[in-house]
Amino acid sequence: MLFSKRTSFAIVFFVLSTLVACNYFPYAKTNQVYRKHNKELIKLVKEDPSIQTIDQLPKAAEWVGTTNFDLRKPNFVIIHHTAQNSCEQTLRTFTLERTKVSAHYVICKDGTIHHMLNDYLRAWHGGVAKWGNNTDINSSSIGIELDNNGFEPFDSAQIKSLLLLLSKLKETYKIPANNFIGHGDIAPVRKNDPNIQFPWIDLAKNGFGVWFQPNLIDTLPAGLSIPLALSMVGYDIKDTNAAILAFKRHFRQDSTSIINESDRSVLAQLIQNKLLH
Ligand SMILES: [Zn+2]
Repeated sequence: MLFSKRTSFAIVFFVLSTLVACNYFPYAKTNQVYRKHNKELIKLVKEDPSIQTIDQLPKAAEWVGTTNFDLRKPNFVIIHHTAQNSCEQTLRTFTLERTKVSAHYVICKDGTIHHMLNDYLRAWHGGVAKWGNNTDINSSSIGIELDNNGFEPFDSAQIKSLLLLLSKLKETYKIPANNFIGHGDIAPVRKNDPNIQFPWIDLAKNGFGVWFQPNLIDTLPAGLSIPLALSMVGYDIKDTNAAILAFKRHFRQDSTSIINESDRSVLAQLIQNKLLH
């Protein structure tokens, strides 16, 4: 059968537009931004240290570089919930430059893992935060966002993927068990993620995060106040109530700020276990 010129053109146009539609990838442009930004950072890393030395310092006339070095490694993992309604919404948020927020990984409800940023680079997920004496958590951590609106339980496929990822990270970067914590732990005044339904106990059973024996009764040393005990676990205690709420959410799955004997025992064990792991 022969087509008229006009019909043939329409068919070709339809086939081409279908092909373009099928191959359309909404993040092609933002991936270009990633690569451009990466190039700028590589340029910075390539600089000789002599350029970085502050002029006023009594520096040597000739620069001598060491021959022995590698990259700094992450030493913490911070777990978040996205407080958004879909994985797609979060991917979009993390690719809009004006939001100034990001994470290394986003894990969807079905377990799909999006690795958005090279582990050696600094994501913007922690914000103003503190754990122990560490006040620049973003510089030393991997940020993992779980697709969750903040009020729902976490899907088993999502937790399965999370555990696989944590295993890989722990092994690759030799991250201590203690250093797997939540955003709500490092920023208790501002944040409450991951939400109270997050299965910290399952993580701890797999070696991610410090935990305690529920049936063991331990006591805090005499004279050790609750705020001091919380700060020994790692919490920023500038707002004691917020720190207590964060501790209760993470370790007791409890949304109150009442500290009972059992909580005291948990605190005592956490302090001891922290010293061991
Ligand atoms: Zn968060």
